[in-house]
Amino acid sequence: MEQITIVTGGSRGIGAATCRRLARDGHRVVVGYRSDEPAAQSVVDAVTAAGGTAIAVRADTADEQDVAALFATAAERLGPVTGLVNNAGVASELTRLADLKTEDLRRVMDINVIGAFLCAREAARVMTAGGAIVNVSSTAATLGSPGNYIHYAASKAAVDALTLGLAKELAADGIRVNGVAPGFVDTEIHQQSGDPDRATNVLSRIPVGRLGTPAEIAEAIAWLLSPASSYTTGATLRVAGGL
Ligand code: NAP
Repeated sequence: MEQITIVTGGSRGIGAATCRRLARDGHRVVVGYRSDEPAAQSVVDAVTAAGGTAIAVRADTADEQDVAALFATAAERLGPVTGLVNNAGVASELTRLADLKTEDLRRVMDINVIGAFLCAREAARVMTAGGAIVNVSSTAATLGSPGNYIHYAASKAAVDALTLGLAKELAADGIRVNGVAPGFVDTEIHQQSGDPDRATNVLSRIPVGRLGTPAEIAEAIAWLLSPASSYTTGATLRVAGGL
């Protein structure tokens, strides 16, 4: 079966590494992005230069119409969608809950929860047997992120529940749903924390003593989308250096 996979938030970080990695496995890749068109195009160019197929499609995952258009464009230009990497996500400034701004709470929930649900719902509508979804969660979901961003942790706990429930709903249709929970990965998301030294400040908490790379997360996502994981559904794989 030809694999046609949408990666939301594919323009940089974990999503970009995932696009490149999936292309190596022969996926035809849809690089979803919200605002950074040149970054998305550079991912397309890298895939194409390596002999793969990719297109960039703008879509705000928190917008229902954008999500429908993302899936429709993918189907029109590449063929029936077989894979979704529900990766687009945001963090916000580090804070204790008492000081959390309502706008930050709503934005994180809107993109990380509503956005992930809208994309998963569209995938559930269009995918047929052999399809697979990977939701990008976080170790925050099971650690709670006290003093940093409990709301972000809660948004990722919702993603984990989505993985569990949807895996059971779609199992009989031959569609698998799994998650990957990264720990601290070296990407631009940490710039949203408001702490310029975030990366060094978290090192002491990571058992293996270093941040993960986007490529290391992409490897797990690629496995969960591949036939090699055919008996795995409803699982969230921690890829977090022991965190
Ligand atoms: P990143 O470098 O900040 O990249 C985020 C990507 O998401 C960008 O491509 C961005 O696109 C896109 N995006 C954001 N909001 C969007 C929206 N509303 N609609 C569509 N696309 C949107 O982040 P990352 O570290 O690679 O994170 C990827 C995922 O991994 C997120 O779900 C994050 O929560 C999760 N995660 C990351 C870490 C970590 O340490 N890095 C750890 C655990 C989990 P534009 O640039 O075009 O806006």
